[in-house]
Amino acid sequence: MDLGLSNKTALVCAASKGLGRACAEALAAEGVRLVITARGADTLEETAHYLRSHFGAEVTTVAGDITTEAGRAQALAVCQSAFGMPDILINNAGGPKPGDFRDWGRAEWQAAVEANMFTPIELIKACTPTMMTRQWGRVVNITSSAVKAPIPELGLSNGARSGLTGFVAGVARQLAEHGITINNLLPGLFYTDRLKNNFAFLSDKTGKTHAEIFAAKSAANPSKRLGNPAEFGAVCAFMCSTQAAYLNGQNILLDGGNYPGTF
Ligand code: NAP
Repeated sequence: MDLGLSNKTALVCAASKGLGRACAEALAAEGVRLVITARGADTLEETAHYLRSHFGAEVTTVAGDITTEAGRAQALAVCQSAFGMPDILINNAGGPKPGDFRDWGRAEWQAAVEANMFTPIELIKACTPTMMTRQWGRVVNITSSAVKAPIPELGLSNGARSGLTGFVAGVARQLAEHGITINNLLPGLFYTDRLKNNFAFLSDKTGKTHAEIFAAKSAANPSKRLGNPAEFGAVCAFMCSTQAAYLNGQNILLDGGNYPGTF
């Protein structure tokens, strides 16, 4: 299926690895021009090289922390000068560390809210005026299955992402008449570096090996496996497509059927 995205421009945040990278790959395969960000310049450049050589994509990189005001300003300025403001915004950043809520103070909460709520809100604010002028825009926020079913050791994520979800529910309806859709894509368990770190935390806590935790998490999922990041990227690209113009303000859960609710 041609998703109708050829020659659109996307800003994909936190995209040198994992789910962000998978979204960048799926968009590159559709002929989208990309600006990708991450803090580590070397891995970011390797990812850009892969996108150019495998997909023939036009890719610009911005090495910086997207959760800071300076990092966001730099990403937007580079995007503006390379291709103009983005038609597509993929909001992503590292998730908060796992832990115990009794150990988290104001600083930990502020960092989580800054990264997983305030940053996407600021980028939506910065990018949607141009999308309104064009009467076309797509925003996909990478959030978490924790928004639907909280994960005890990820309380910072449960809280901060729920705040973003509430905001998006309102703003998506405010901007819909301008051809803009804003949706959240909720990963269950995808085997990325982030998940490996979470498994290391569980391993320390329970004494189980990484392999045992991997096997138990896979077995507990109705599909008997963890998610493949490419599957995540493909759904993200569809959410950005011209065909998905009537999909708006939704929380799309991608978890192999793990969430047990009917709705
Ligand atoms: P990952 O494999 O660790 O990749 C994270 C990517 O984001 C890397 O490219 C990293 O590069 C970049 N990044 C992290 N912090 C950044 C920052 N402050 N500014 C710019 N770039 C940053 O993680 P992932 O599994 O793809 O997870 C992506 C998001 O989905 C996270 O918020 C995570 O909590 C959430 N999530 C993941 C899962 C899962 O199963 N994987 C499940 C639920 C939710 P640098 O380190 O070089 O900056």
